Amino acid sequence: MASPDGHREIWEFTPRQREVIGRMLRGTSPQQIAFRLGLGVRTIYWHVENIYRLAGVHSVGEFFAWAHSHRDCCSIGVVWDSPWRTAV
Ligand SMILES: [Zn+2]
Repeated sequence: MASPDGHREIWEFTPRQREVIGRMLRGTSPQQIAFRLGLGVRTIYWHVENIYRLAGVHSVGEFFAWAHSHRDCCSIGVVWDSPWRTAV
């Protein structure tokens, strides 16, 4: 369940959002994610906007910190030198 402050668990996102989240955290660039998923880069950024809103974050730095806080409960890893940290 989502808590009142908007905290979400990874499994509360849509399958497509989880795909984007996973690739972001593995360090895949926006352009590569778009290519792999057969989508436009603008669509990827649209997914990212929705992901940020659902996660309650406002920057890529906050997003990576949020993901890192879920490393145990949601079994996710974060690649800290992700190109997202400079691209977004
Ligand atoms: Zn979690």
